[in-house]
Amino acid sequence: MDVDVRIKNGVVHTPSGAVEADLLVRGERIFGIVSRDEETRAALEIDATGKHVVPGVVDPHAHTRVPGYEYKEDYVTSSQAAAVGGITAYVDMPNVEPPTDSVTTYEQKRRIAEEACLIDWGHFVSGTKLDQIMPCAEAGATGYKIFQVSGGYPHDPRLAMGESERIYAAFDAIAPTGLPCLVHPYNQPLMDLMSERALAAGRPRDIFTFSEMYTNNVVWSSAVAVLLELQWETGVRLQVLHSHSNRSLKLIKRAKADGQRVTAAIDLKYFQLTADEMSEQGARAIPGGLITDDPERMAAIWESLLDGTLDTIDSDHAPHTAEDLKRMHEDPWTGPFGSPQYEYMFSVVLNDVNAGKLPLSVALRLLCENPARILGIYPRKGAIQLGSDADIVIVDLEREVRPTDEETYNKSGWTPYRGRSLKGGPILTMLRGKVIAENGKVLGKPGYGKYLPGVAQVAVPEQGYLSPGLAFQPRDPVRSPQAEPALSLR
Ligand SMILES: [Zn+2]
Repeated sequence: MDVDVRIKNGVVHTPSGAVEADLLVRGERIFGIVSRDEETRAALEIDATGKHVVPGVVDPHAHTRVPGYEYKEDYVTSSQAAAVGGITAYVDMPNVEPPTDSVTTYEQKRRIAEEACLIDWGHFVSGTKLDQIMPCAEAGATGYKIFQVSGGYPHDPRLAMGESERIYAAFDAIAPTGLPCLVHPYNQPLMDLMSERALAAGRPRDIFTFSEMYTNNVVWSSAVAVLLELQWETGVRLQVLHSHSNRSLKLIKRAKADGQRVTAAIDLKYFQLTADEMSEQGARAIPGGLITDDPERMAAIWESLLDGTLDTIDSDHAPHTAEDLKRMHEDPWTGPFGSPQYEYMFSVVLNDVNAGKLPLSVALRLLCENPARILGIYPRKGAIQLGSDADIVIVDLEREVRPTDEETYNKSGWTPYRGRSLKGGPILTMLRGKVIAENGKVLGKPGYGKYLPGVAQVAVPEQGYLSPGLAFQPRDPVRSPQAEPALSLR
């Protein structure tokens, strides 16, 4: 048989487990998973001996900074960084200038990305304007983002909604769209009070005090408690972001057990960046050490990554320039906070796989499969199976990776993982049958990416009457991000 690509001699990771096989691609799709001796004629053969063949990472948390902050990052540079890092699809956040909070601004942003993105992409729109919520869904928005945090950019006060009645109204308007609603949970008034007290007590106004205030458990968990109640009331598909608080994780776990439509994400900076890294790199490595030095929080995070309380590891790829970082260092309460993640995100996770902290199958569930499920695009994305898009990454678990600022593609030109020694990394990234990056070099062209419109998943309320004792035939279990059994590796 004739195919376009044959990836030979690797270990292929499918939803049913890992298998030593060759992978066939025809056009933009996965056409076959075949034994080594199966005869084919392939236009391109790629040797993956000793390597793992896995789905492309789907990242529902990008800050491309366009429009308005092109001096930090743009669609070309962010998607180049993503391609090199094994990410084949991302969804962009609305905190840009003008904010993505209406059909007009959404369509304007989509037109810019159309010409530039190397990888498949989507847009989350803000939930602040109630009369724009349904029209944005009809126009193709991928989902919604609500910020409870407020202050200076990037936590734009125009996009902030802290009050529970406003969040209720937004959830109530978003629920009928069937699209996911991502929330940055935050009790901003409590954070303000705690900061005021700490500074009045003589604590220095520096990044260490700020990080301690910013990551305080109750600032997050008190917000999550309210969000979960409002979710229960409205039925919205809630994805709780930045779930690094052990108190929040406890609440999320209980809500899931109660059958609520809630999923949870964590991003690397909260449980990876260390105190040494913040001492050495300053504002680049915020909130270094505040969580990694807390055994109770780290235990809760790792348990949640393994037991499914946490559904996704997302990037929160958020570049800022050296000038921005200087402002952050001088006054963290008003400066911009965040770090570029794409180039080394996969390697940071694979390093933990090599260290035995999580199985590769669980890492792939967190990075590829569950994000695609949450966006409603699984198994077209996030899986290697027949008919899925040929979004494929070849991973070398033995590769030594030493992150440097010089080898980054993000426009701000740095990485908070500088100086680390990581084991494991992506060596080839394919999107819909085309190789878009290989060995740290970008091969993809701007504009190749395709837009990912929102996929409605509306819950049908239970109505009517079933007489007890009916004999139903058992059916195949439904796989959901909440209740996903870990795949066992061969
Ligand atoms: Zn973010």
